Amino acid sequence: METLTQLSERFGINAEYASAAFYPVFRGNLAGVRVLVLSDETTRRYADPFAQKLRDRGIEAEGFTLPSREPVADEAACAAVEERAKQGFGYVLAVGAGTLNDIAKYVTFRLGLPCGVLATAASMDGYASGVTPLIKNGQKVTENAHTVRDILLDTDLLRTAPPLMTGAGVGDILAKYCCLTDWKLSSLLTGEAVDPDAMALMRGALEGCVASLESIRAGGAAGLNDLLRALLVSGYAMVLAGSSRPASGAEHHMSHFLETDFLRRGKPVPLHGVKVGLGTLVSLRLYKRIAGLKEDFAGKAEAAALAVPLPTPEWAARQLASFGCPTRFSEIGVPKDVFRAMLFNAHTIRSRFTVLTLYHEHGLMEGAADELTELFY
Ligand SMILES: [Zn+2]
Repeated sequence: METLTQLSERFGINAEYASAAFYPVFRGNLAGVRVLVLSDETTRRYADPFAQKLRDRGIEAEGFTLPSREPVADEAACAAVEERAKQGFGYVLAVGAGTLNDIAKYVTFRLGLPCGVLATAASMDGYASGVTPLIKNGQKVTENAHTVRDILLDTDLLRTAPPLMTGAGVGDILAKYCCLTDWKLSSLLTGEAVDPDAMALMRGALEGCVASLESIRAGGAAGLNDLLRALLVSGYAMVLAGSSRPASGAEHHMSHFLETDFLRRGKPVPLHGVKVGLGTLVSLRLYKRIAGLKEDFAGKAEAAALAVPLPTPEWAARQLASFGCPTRFSEIGVPKDVFRAMLFNAHTIRSRFTVLTLYHEHGLMEGAADELTELFY
């Protein structure tokens, strides 16, 4: 099997592991360039020593720390980083996970500078993605950005991330069972084209990650690498498919629906992978109950057949719970009425056929909503 570094190279990304040589490829591209090392108050403890190591090796590096333990990628944060990056820097290295990576990608795309990330948590699949979710005027929007040039991976560092963050990464990967099935379902029922390479790449990485769950839980290097591979492959599969189809289905639409609601209520938004993990439990449940429905409808046989090889929602819930991830929507403060609104409306988030669309088109959610509310509260 191609190593993650080889695979990443195919997609124009330098995925480099920590070693005694201290990221030689990354450093080799920085000759004469001033580097802005971006952190927040949580990741500064990694960023400061990293900037020092760069300076020790003759690279001009300066730190910039956002004054928050959990910043959000909003206008104010992006403007602050942009202002700093404009002061003669030629590269921005984010030391963090989702939010800082998103800010760095967006700001450097605007400034025409390359960027990279020293990953501090295997918590989400946006490391290798070319778009960036931002919060603008209190709304979640997806902005064009570019992909990072370098992804620096240090399993010793990733091991120190809170288990919930690793669990969020696992949630974002278990989600691929559902979104790949949604894609197949759509191809059978609507004729949507499936990209077999993207699907095979994603499925292989998903299976590798699932086979390593024990090692991931134990903080083993091999397990964390399999999780990272799957998280990065999500980005590469999207590039191959030319859309987010291989990495995002109904479970992501449910997460997106909830995110909008958290923002509207002015509440802190739970981790992406945590919400997606919960959406995955709902999607698995929706698929598994199709065979037992008394209603007959177009697509029932196809959907029921696709549900057979899927893992059970109970198994998925056990995996998430083993990382301390919530398995009920009540645990993340989603009111029951919002949960029900999500069941009935999340399919409108995107015009993409998923198991939620199937339920909606055939009026099946009425019969499922009480059962699901009971299960998830
Ligand atoms: Zn995701």
